[in-house]
Amino acid sequence: MTDTPTQLFIGGAWVDAADGATMPVDDPATGEALCHVADAGMKDAKLAEEAAVQAQEAWARTAPRVRSEILRRAYEIILERTDELAHLMTAEMGKPLAEARGEVAYAAEFFRWFSEEAVRIDGGLTTLPDGRNRMLLSRRPVGPCLLITPWNFPLAMGTRKIGPAVAAGCTMVLKPAPQTPLSSLALAAILKEAGLPDGVLNVVTTSRAGEVCEPLLRGGRIRKLSFTGSTAVGQLLLAQSAEAVVRTSMELGGNAPFVVFEDADLDKAVDGAMVAKMRNMGEACTAANRFFVHRSVAQEFGRRLAERMGALVVGPGTRDGVDVGPLIDRRGRAKVEELVADAVERGAQVLVGGRTPEGPGCFYPPTVLADVDPGSRLMDTEIFGPVAAILTFDDEDEVIRRANDTPWGLVGYVFTEGLDRALRVSERLEVGMVGLNTGLVSNPAAPFGGVKQSGLGREGGRVGIDEFLEYQYLAVPVS
Ligand code: NAP
Repeated sequence: MTDTPTQLFIGGAWVDAADGATMPVDDPATGEALCHVADAGMKDAKLAEEAAVQAQEAWARTAPRVRSEILRRAYEIILERTDELAHLMTAEMGKPLAEARGEVAYAAEFFRWFSEEAVRIDGGLTTLPDGRNRMLLSRRPVGPCLLITPWNFPLAMGTRKIGPAVAAGCTMVLKPAPQTPLSSLALAAILKEAGLPDGVLNVVTTSRAGEVCEPLLRGGRIRKLSFTGSTAVGQLLLAQSAEAVVRTSMELGGNAPFVVFEDADLDKAVDGAMVAKMRNMGEACTAANRFFVHRSVAQEFGRRLAERMGALVVGPGTRDGVDVGPLIDRRGRAKVEELVADAVERGAQVLVGGRTPEGPGCFYPPTVLADVDPGSRLMDTEIFGPVAAILTFDDEDEVIRRANDTPWGLVGYVFTEGLDRALRVSERLEVGMVGLNTGLVSNPAAPFGGVKQSGLGREGGRVGIDEFLEYQYLAVPVS
């Protein structure tokens, strides 16, 4: 912690906020402040934007191989410092150390993946249908970007945006979530060490997100917004981006259905449920939010899931043997408590958990609710906590209709042993990603993203870099 930067990173230098403001970073396991970091205002944001704008032209002309090698070096440094970064993440965000180490590896992989993509940006020469005109097509960076990230995956949400932006030749202003600024500042230090030129990445930590971001989005110099966060904030930022016609990528909220058919392998389904529900203590956009289980296997599925959930050890993420850390803050926990209380009031049975423990920290126990009423609030709200809500269904058409009956469409999980049914149901689910007999879809080599109000665009995979590139077409007549 002592070496972790706590200032803003602008133009390659570590600086205080212009007005000297700072903000605390709290440990969710104790509720106490870990340290203070600079709290940027509009003046600082403008300086960061200026640094990104000034660096853009030279950076766009940098050889792809150079950009690739910077990412590769940063990938290696991140892996070398896995333990240090994992401790930092656990301290500011709460997830158990084993999960934090997993996120470090996942985050690093985006840099490796995009270091390989940086040198594969293609164009082409095409003879047009008239046989006379030629089309010369090239790709160029979209320009300075504003990247806004949430607190739940403090490192990976940053590398998933910075990786393709660096590979494409874009400069950036990164605004991380105020709960978890330290991972982003550590990442900036690593990129500097890896040789990223000054001004290419600028980091502004702030408690004044609206004041800092809106002028950048409306100002016309930022050409791209890449946002990960809630749908409500995404909608606001889309509106702000409209004025200057800023290109946007939006990774927003989810309300994932987890469907268990009567022919599912229940061992696989329970294993999948543990991952889809409990990764990151349920604080994931991909978290299974609604468990639809065929009536004939619902009781057995609920029993086995409750047994597994009840065996998880809750405690500070730094303690050995802990499976479930604290939730991010008291507000996040209060939301989970309210959703559970509402479901119970409407008749849900608590199979395990459901009671907030006494004492400091924002802990909430793994909880399984059965016979959840479809009108319960947690059916159309992201729970963002370790609560599995089980409903029953009787036939395929019915469950597809109910699974799709939501404004979100990020991910769905389907458990069945029948290939025919697996493909049929997957195709009919209105989601960007499907986990088939698995509770994990995240993979840097795959295009991550949703449909409907879960977002616009994709991150990762072959298409991830496209979000940061424009086409330029040259018309060339040949006589
Ligand atoms: P959030 O409240 O929407 O915040 C996300 C980020 O936006 C934070 O950095 C936040 O800073 C910032 N922000 C909020 N209001 C802003 C404004 N007016 N202008 C500019 N920035 C603003 O979401 P969260 O609670 O941090 O994260 C949880 C949400 O993220 C969930 O809905 C989850 O599903 C979603 N998520 C989606 C994905 C995906 O890939 N689809 C991945 C992870 C998380 P402040 O906190 O200071 O407001």
